[in-house]
Amino acid sequence: MQPIRSATVIGSGIMGSQIAAHLAGCGIPVLLLDVPSEGKDRNAVANKGRDGLKKVKPSPLYSSEATDLITTGNTADHLAEAGKTDWIIEAIIEQPKPKQELFQKLAPLMGPDTILATNTSGIPLRVLGEGLPEAVQQRFIGTHFFNPPRYLRLVEVIRGPKTSQVTADRIEHVLNAVLNKVPVPALDSPTFIANRIGVQAMVATVKIAKELGLSVEEVDALTGPLMGRPKTGTFKLVDLVGIDTLGHIINGLKQAFPKEDFSIDPVIQGLIDKKFFGRKSNAGFYRKGKSKEDMEVVDLKTGEYRPEAKARFEELKDVSKEENAEKKFRKLFAAQGRGAEAAQRILSSTLAYAAAVAPSITDELSYVDEAMELGFGWETGPFKIIDAIGPEAFQSACSKFKIEAPAWLFQSVGGDARTYKDEGGKVLIRDLPKAGSAGGRHEMKARGFSLARHRASHKPVIATTDATLWDMGDRILLLEFHSKMNSMGPISLDMILKSVEKANDGWDGLVIGNQGQNFCAGANIAMVLMDAVNGEFDNVDQAIRMFQKASMAIKYSGVPVVVSPHNMALGGGCEFVLHSNRPVLSPETYMGLVEVGVGLLPAGGGTKELALRTYQSGRGALTLPALAKAFELIATGKVSTSAREAFDLGYMDKRAVIAANESTRLDQAKAEALAMARAGYRPPAPAPKIEVLGTEAIAAFETGIFMLREAGYASEHDALIAREVGHILAGGKVTAGTFVDEEYLLDLERDGFLRLVGTKKSQERIEFMLKKGKPLRN
Ligand code: NAD
Repeated sequence: MQPIRSATVIGSGIMGSQIAAHLAGCGIPVLLLDVPSEGKDRNAVANKGRDGLKKVKPSPLYSSEATDLITTGNTADHLAEAGKTDWIIEAIIEQPKPKQELFQKLAPLMGPDTILATNTSGIPLRVLGEGLPEAVQQRFIGTHFFNPPRYLRLVEVIRGPKTSQVTADRIEHVLNAVLNKVPVPALDSPTFIANRIGVQAMVATVKIAKELGLSVEEVDALTGPLMGRPKTGTFKLVDLVGIDTLGHIINGLKQAFPKEDFSIDPVIQGLIDKKFFGRKSNAGFYRKGKSKEDMEVVDLKTGEYRPEAKARFEELKDVSKEENAEKKFRKLFAAQGRGAEAAQRILSSTLAYAAAVAPSITDELSYVDEAMELGFGWETGPFKIIDAIGPEAFQSACSKFKIEAPAWLFQSVGGDARTYKDEGGKVLIRDLPKAGSAGGRHEMKARGFSLARHRASHKPVIATTDATLWDMGDRILLLEFHSKMNSMGPISLDMILKSVEKANDGWDGLVIGNQGQNFCAGANIAMVLMDAVNGEFDNVDQAIRMFQKASMAIKYSGVPVVVSPHNMALGGGCEFVLHSNRPVLSPETYMGLVEVGVGLLPAGGGTKELALRTYQSGRGALTLPALAKAFELIATGKVSTSAREAFDLGYMDKRAVIAANESTRLDQAKAEALAMARAGYRPPAPAPKIEVLGTEAIAAFETGIFMLREAGYASEHDALIAREVGHILAGGKVTAGTFVDEEYLLDLERDGFLRLVGTKKSQERIEFMLKKGKPLRN
């Protein structure tokens, strides 16, 4: 299969510019085109799109250099160049005519293997591709990215009437292996999968809210995390998307599906008429009130603003607290009261709709779940929710609320009416129903190693409340953390030691990784604080020793230990990654030694490891600037905004690899462990003694600290912490040229940590973080 090595994105607006940024961030050079400008710079529009990328938050770029891979142009002068690239992505205005005209111009200029893709949100490909030569239609496909394209992993892949298998395969490959996306095939039906269901959910929610007399705040309280959906609920999400945009989408759906209930509610129309489009116009369903803290909301009865009120539903308190998604939905459907019934009715309406339209938008029910989870941020997709509630209970809810759901949904297939059925480690999914029959079941294709599925069909090797050791197969073990926030306490630390020991007893390797929200948020600082406040410094000393022992066990294990972080890898979590000889990072890895934020310093081997690497890689004059870089990293608690940035910052070096795709990250981590084992893995020899800079470095750090203090960037306590960090990196107050070993540096770490944790200001920082979830500058 011919790989995709270059791309053109046409349209440099919200989507086009960010798609270009993501492709470039993943190493694909991009030509970004927009309409030509009248003035001197004919590429001004595309240039503006590219230049604006550095200001977008959250950043669409894996690293700031990514924009260097984006060249710009315009559609009058550069279409021939576009035709020479492997993949053209059209992301211009959402209207058929301009898109069709553009495709007609491109068709004769396209190379024989160039793929033409559209990012349309909803226009069918059979309409857009009409009249294109057959050979181009074979290479015409929909790649519908979701906003923001770097962070939402869903890409709906839509085949037109003549799209070839090779085209679909090449697109699937680039999305999977290069762009960290989840390609979800969708049928060529207006608005495809996620928007169709997501917009129905919004429209139906507004309708039900008005019938039941619910307020905007009540609706948002019911349709957010309570239903496993993002905090924005319904109306805050609409404000974010833009009420005008929603209006266009609803109108589009109304035209495409005149028999369905897509209509713009008068309150929504009223806001559109007043140009109150939401966030972008500083007023929508919500707006700032008279004072800064006060918010106002639209009254759904009158359309006028009134002060925001808190929504309370006593009967749902227990549901909100439930962390297990399946149990949460069961509890929600068992609860009684005004709020519970409203939530049940709102949710049931969308679940029934998803089932009703499924056969016309997908050829696999799990794609609907994936689309809603990865494109709309639902924790659980519709068919999984129905399975959780139980088809019978859902059927009762539908009859209670007079909601029509297709009959096949409640028919048993192989003794079970649920969509998914676990059978000996395999998942058997219900076939899409054909007219008049409920169909059978087939084995669902897995996207990669799934811990959830593994848990359901395997016995752990060692199980504790905070971490579990699994057999991944092929003589590789997997250590999973699952404590609250995956923070490290004595149980998890002990499990690292036990797992390394076990792995060295007849296994070929160990992977440390999980599929929770974050890899690891760092040490359990509540425990540290408690001991410090009670003056139990021996306990703190013991805890740090254990941390250090865990890091050193990872580094010097006789079999390879692959640490595989994703999302947050902070503090202690980052230190474990630093000690792995082959980390496999998710492309979205936010790692950093953030201890200064809580008044402490990295003492689980992190400061030592950065010092060691720096001294080992340079000598004499070269070492000081490199050491200063490590000093700055720790003293400012810098966190990478992507895996790639973890390399740029100096946390990661050439031993580490970035996983091709988050879905297969743990498979790749296992493969790395196996490859190292097969190549005859030997642990690194204990680090030889290193020649440190001692007082020479301390003097240099002092100057830096003085300047930061003078400029007002550092408080007195910041300076104290920085001095402690500098002391370790320097190798202590010794003459330059003194030789020290790793253990000595670990001792320095521990001493510094103990001195800091004993100060009142550091304890205040820890307490503040625990209470407010953000650092205190004191
Ligand atoms: P946008 O209005 O932000 O940007 C469109 C860009 O296309 C503008 O820079 C405009 O100058 C340019 N353009 C318009 N007509 C052109 C033409 N004939 N030739 C060349 N350039 C032209 O729009 P957007 O939000 O980025 O949407 C682009 C496409 O992506 C649409 O099809 C939209 O439905 C789809 N989409 C949008 C989102 C979203 O959240 N915004 C999400 C998924 C898909």
